[in-house]
Amino acid sequence: MSFEFVCLGTGCPAATPARMGPAHLVIAGATKILIDCGSGVTQRLVQAGTRGADLDALIVTHYHSDHVIDFWQLIVSSWHQGRAKPWRVSSTPPAIAHMKKQIESFADEIALRITHEHRPSTDGLTIAFEELNAGTLTFPDVAITAFAVDHRPVAPAYGLTFESAGRKLVFSGDTAPCNALEQAAQNADLLVQEVFVDREMQPTPGVRSAETVASVQAYHTTPAQAAHIASSAQVRALMLTHIVPPAANRAALLQEIRAGYSGPAVVGEDLMRFDLINRIVKSGETTLAL
Ligand SMILES: [Zn+2]
Ligand SMILES: [Zn+2]
Repeated sequence: MSFEFVCLGTGCPAATPARMGPAHLVIAGATKILIDCGSGVTQRLVQAGTRGADLDALIVTHYHSDHVIDFWQLIVSSWHQGRAKPWRVSSTPPAIAHMKKQIESFADEIALRITHEHRPSTDGLTIAFEELNAGTLTFPDVAITAFAVDHRPVAPAYGLTFESAGRKLVFSGDTAPCNALEQAAQNADLLVQEVFVDREMQPTPGVRSAETVASVQAYHTTPAQAAHIASSAQVRALMLTHIVPPAANRAALLQEIRAGYSGPAVVGEDLMRFDLINRIVKSGETTLAL
């Protein structure tokens, strides 16, 4: 039985070739769950050795464009890969309403493709939306629990707990520090935590004012706060993702984490894989035991 966490996109709305938009994959036995569908997700899925066609479900944690921008691209590319089963998509009402708008905006185009291209099945274009609420989602091989986090004014927004093979993975989603996350993360084998590197996000004329920085920071988590959460929850390992800014200095970031958390910590990179069973992180040619 495998239980793996794969970073597909560790970035944010700021564009950089090294970090695609927010998207992460959980593989538990035969079940593959995609978390969010940020920019570049379909390409990264192929790089990670899988395909949209093979996914069992998509969970979109909240309605922010960077988490849902490639939704229709995911649906169409998966169909072209031969997807022959309907989609299960769980998300918040505002994000579902938005995904329905993406579908509607291409309705005329997809109708033309269907009649002209004569693909073997259109089942991969069928999407069953379900509202994401705090509580359990049932899948074979993995138990998923959604918990409400604090990403106000964006609400609702969720973090996710995945339990499989006696291991616990907690994904923060986008959030400011909150009790629900700290509770969910208790004794997790791996906490995947979003981070806003405040030290590197200074006001910049024409780009962001002091007010912008304060507003954005208010609904995210700084390195010191991330370290505090990991330490209080006594997580076994910490991985950082949703790196703002995406070019944040890794060594300096880890140093800030180490000031408040003594366990193993890694800065997530696109295509990094965390094997929860063997407690191994693989990134390119590098393998680290945690
Ligand atoms: Zn985000
Ligand atoms: Zn967000």
